[in-house]
This record gives sequence, C-alpha cells and structure tokens, in this order.
Amino acid sequence: MKRLAILGSTGSIGVSTLEIVTEYPNHFRIVALTAGRNLALLEEQIVRFRPEVVAVPDQENAQRLKERIGAGGPRVLCGTEGLIECAAGSPVDMVVSAIVGAAGLEPTLAAIEAGRDVALANKETLVIAGELVMAAVARSGCRLFPVDSEHSAIFQSLEGHRKSDVRRLILTASGGPFRNWSLDDLQDVTPQDALAHPNWTMGRKITIDSATMMNKGLEVIEAHWLFDVPVDDIAVHIHPESIVHSMVEYVDGALIAQLGIPDMKTPIAYALTYPERLTLNLPALDLCRLSQLNFAVPNSQCFPCLGLAYDAIRRGGTTPAVLNAANELAVEAFLQEKIAFLDIPRIIGKVVAMHINTEASSLEPILAADMWARQTAQSVIHEIQGVSYA
Ligand code: NAD
Ligand code: MG
Repeated sequence: MKRLAILGSTGSIGVSTLEIVTEYPNHFRIVALTAGRNLALLEEQIVRFRPEVVAVPDQENAQRLKERIGAGGPRVLCGTEGLIECAAGSPVDMVVSAIVGAAGLEPTLAAIEAGRDVALANKETLVIAGELVMAAVARSGCRLFPVDSEHSAIFQSLEGHRKSDVRRLILTASGGPFRNWSLDDLQDVTPQDALAHPNWTMGRKITIDSATMMNKGLEVIEAHWLFDVPVDDIAVHIHPESIVHSMVEYVDGALIAQLGIPDMKTPIAYALTYPERLTLNLPALDLCRLSQLNFAVPNSQCFPCLGLAYDAIRRGGTTPAVLNAANELAVEAFLQEKIAFLDIPRIIGKVVAMHINTEASSLEPILAADMWARQTAQSVIHEIQGVSYA
C-alpha cells in the first residue's frame, strides 16, 4: 500500500492520478490532497478518498471548507505553509507534484528535502530551480520520477543502458494547434483557438504553452536537469501524431523510443509504481491502423518561445526562473485577452533581456528573480496594452 499526497488534486494530472487510485484501491491510500480554486471538487475528493490532511490557498477558503465538511473531516491547512506540510509533514511514501506554475516549487522542494519520493508533473520546479532541486535529490536520496510524457519516455528509453553511451535526447512535440500557421495567421489567434489542443486535454496554462511551444522549451530545461544531459545535446522534433513520446539516441546510432496513445495515465501510473506496470484500461496502440508517423524541424520564426528557453538555460543562473515567471504572466494576460498571442514571446524576451543574471544555488535569489520578473512583466504588459489602445 503506497501512501500518497497529491498536490494539485483538482487539476488535469491530479484527477487522472485519482482515477488510477480508484482503479487500484489496494495499491494506494490518499493521505493528503491540495487544491487551488476548485473547492467543490476538493470537497467531493475528500468524501471519496478520506485524506487525513488537505490544503487550500488561503484562510478564508480553509474556513469555508471546514464549515462545509464539518467535524470528523481532515485537517484543513492553508497557504504555502499548508502545501509544505502536506508535502513534507504528512506520513506519505510519495508526493505527486501536480500544481501548475511556480507555486509548485516550494512544496516539491520540501518533499524532496524530507526524503519523500516525488512523481513530478510540475515541470516549472526544475525550470526555476533545477540545480537546487537536483542537489537536494542527491542529498536526500529520494527518487524523482517524471510524469511529463516526454520525460517518462526518455526515462523508459534509458532503462538498461549506459548513460555514457547516450549521444543525445530527442523530445517530440505535437506542434500544437497552430503547427502549420504562418506568422500572419498567428496575429489574430484567440484564447479559444489556442485552448483547442489537437491531441491532449490538459490544464489551461500548459495548453497555451503548447500553442506557443514554450511547453517544449520548458521541457528541454526539465530534461537537462532530470537526465544531466547538456542542453545542446537535446533536440526537438515536431511529431504531430503524439505517438512517439520521445527518444534517446545512442553513440552507435541506435534510437530507442517509447510509443503509446496520448494518455497521461500511462506515464502517471509508471511514476506511481515503478518498476511495476499497472494494467490500465486504455485502448491499445494499433500501429497498423496509423497510416504514418511524421517528423519535422520546429519553425523558430513562428514559435520563438522555444529559442528563448534554449537561450535562458544556456545563460543559466536565475534566467530560467525569469523566463518562467514572465511566461506565466504573459499567458495569463493572453487568456484574459489583454494581449495578443504574439505578444507572449515579445514580453518574455523583453523581461529576460532586462534581467541581471545571478547564481541560482539557493532559494533566496531564485524567489527574488521570480518576483522581479513578475513585476517587470506586469509593467511590460501595461505598456503593450497602452500601445494597442492608443
Ligand atoms: P491544471 O491547471 O489542470 O491543475 C493545476 C492544479 O494546481 C489544480 O489542482 C489547481 O487548483 C492547483 N493550483 C493552481 N495554482 C495554484 C496555486 N497558486 N497554489 C496551489 N494550488 C494551485 O494543470 P495540469 O494540466 O494538471 O498541470 C499540472 C502540472 O503538470 C503543470 O506543471 C503542467 O505543466 C504539468 N503537466 C501537465 C500535463 C497534462 O497533461 N495536464 C502533462 C505534462 C505535464
Ligand atoms: Mg510533456
């Protein structure tokens, strides 16, 4: 019986994780759950999974939740402290890190420092603080299992091989809904257009990141830290079918890949039960029914976010944290229809260019850079709005 804490239990990854738990009640016990805004769903999950402790963002929501669940329910905590307590203070064997954005960093780091194994969906944690996080993993001896499908594919393709034989990693990318659009077409993209991902159903932020290809940029940085491979040995191939989830190229030319239908339950389950595989009730991949698998080079002119991410990790230090924070603000502003789709990379580029890079070997400069980038991105967004309404 594996005892789990799920951070971000009401999100896309959180809900899929709980579906696996429901299918395998004898394998898992839910000890802690945390949610952002969707208290109604958290309440349902509390009734169903009977956690010992839950966390919500603030005191007001904690009070509301306590009143609704009444006596005999779980302890209700709030804020970053509450998240950290769920991740590191509760008696669990594994923490599923599935909050979106920088809010996932501190609880994930706390889980690692407390020696908990982590199933990591929150890629932003490694983007912002990869050096710090991997050093904490090495110190605490915990294990970090990738949930992101590309990284799970690489993890599986590395199994049984020697790290010294790896020539490069190849991450695949669907290319998102605008794969074949011209720069001109991209001018008038709406949030609705961008939220219609062809292959995956995911949270709003990652869906926009997929449309700009920042998601792949964040994943290059994530792969660099997870697998300790230089960023220049990590390539990205556009693969519209999302069947080959990623590949490892070895020095003798062998290419080892993991294939499957695009469903996050496969990588989530593998992270939960490694090295065991659970029987999942998913349609099998029938290669004979696929007419073809395509691969292409990304279009850097239409999708500059990918290049911005490569540049940021090459600069290192606090720059990736700044890239991430500026992206979070720009994506939110786009979703609120304050800026255009093509403003997203412009804003990130401007904020990163203004940043004075510092070392990122402790949390303090990282959090300071994150806060600076949020404030700076906000001013750049205001400037852009001023221009468009002038
Ligand atoms: P989502 O938006 O569906 O869910 C996010 C969860 O985090 C929700 O439970 C939400 O309530 C909670 N949350 C949001 N902001 C919070 C805050 N400030 N404090 C506390 N909780 C907060 O997102 P998702 O699609 O499930 O993605 C979660 C993470 O997994 C992201 O980092 C994403 O990049 C990564 N990921 C997702 C997928 C996918 O298929 N959805 C695939 C690979 C990686
Ligand atoms: Mg992915």
